[in-house]
Amino acid sequence: MGVGGPARYFCEVRSEEEVVVAVAWAKKHGQRLFVLGGGSNLLVRDAGFDGLVVRVDLRGIEVCGDGCLNVGAGENWDAFVDRAVAMDLAGVECLAGIPGSMGGTPVQNVGAYGQEVAETIEEVRAFDRMKGEFVVLVRAACRFRYRESLFNSDEPGRYVVTQVRFRLRKEGVPTLRYAELQRRFTGRQMPTLKEVASAVREIRRSKGMLLVEGDSDSRSAGSFFKNPVMEVGDMERVAAAAGTEADGLPQWPAGEGRVKLPAAWLLEHAGFVKGYGEGAAGISTRHTLALTNRGGATCADIERLQDEIVRGVRERFGVRLEREPVLVG
Ligand SMILES: Cc1cc2nc3c(=O)[nH]c(=O)nc-3n(C[C@H](O)[C@H](O)[C@H](O)COP(=O)(O)OP(=O)(O)OC[C@H]3O[C@@H](n4cnc5c(N)ncnc54)[C@H](O)[C@@H]3O)c2cc1C
Repeated sequence: MGVGGPARYFCEVRSEEEVVVAVAWAKKHGQRLFVLGGGSNLLVRDAGFDGLVVRVDLRGIEVCGDGCLNVGAGENWDAFVDRAVAMDLAGVECLAGIPGSMGGTPVQNVGAYGQEVAETIEEVRAFDRMKGEFVVLVRAACRFRYRESLFNSDEPGRYVVTQVRFRLRKEGVPTLRYAELQRRFTGRQMPTLKEVASAVREIRRSKGMLLVEGDSDSRSAGSFFKNPVMEVGDMERVAAAAGTEADGLPQWPAGEGRVKLPAAWLLEHAGFVKGYGEGAAGISTRHTLALTNRGGATCADIERLQDEIVRGVRERFGVRLEREPVLVG
């Protein structure tokens, strides 16, 4: 987002040994530690971070079997997607164009256009700061949920991810679950993985969700609010506030007796439409869920806009929105 102050201490680590050294240094000097990937899902406070920021830059992609790839946490996510597609490996093609590092993806359980990394991650190797040793966590141990995982929700800050193992489908067919993506290929033979990845990037670009130099709509942290998950029973109240029937509301099933509501719909119906905001912080002109820095915004400006939206949606629908980006500082 291009907001926020400095780190008191900063280092980059390029090997597992350096991870251990950095963690030990912070402990010895009584400094808080923040693990940085690509910085694409952060909201850094204006006063910065009073501690050590460790940027993870471990590289390397190694084939470990049929459809199996071990990837260093510092690899660029989108370049990895290209690599997998070029190797004819299916499973991440719909996640093309998402900025950030490999290490950030299991943390945030990144997802888009009908795929989530939780479906293809086999295991995660990480330094466990509590035990002081490297551990390997299999998929079930990572406790992946919608944009949540062991790493950001159950035990935030405990693990420094150094490597992620993917199990992709050799010569697999692309995933076409997302309606907008399906429409692109209707009436045609099954597209290639490369065609699907390109289509996803095109859609993302049209919504300002692809990092493009000079496109101020992409100066965001992606979707700023999570889609709220609610009890089916609570939908009547939301529907009444919207002046409609519960089954007239857009929604997706979210497990036993629960549904997920599109946060974008809630914002729009509470008056927070594309382009909203007078100042340097505003809603993207092409995507309702992206709060953007139009130039010169501070973190305080972004937080003010966030609070205004959260309050507005709560007053209108009684639904509490949750921020997706991680607040630092
Ligand atoms: C334009 C745009 C579009 C986006 N679109 C999407 C989208 O479609 N879907 C989606 O899910 N997200 C999206 N995002 C959000 C973001 O790209 C992802 O969450 C991404 O995975 C964050 O990775 P990062 O390396 O930048 O993490 P950072 O922003 O650096 O960090 C995010 C969190 O992960 C932790 N972390 C990072 N690396 C490690 C590590 N090695 N070990 C331990 N913890 C670590 C950090 O401490 C922090 O808590 C978008 C962002 C932007 C700017």
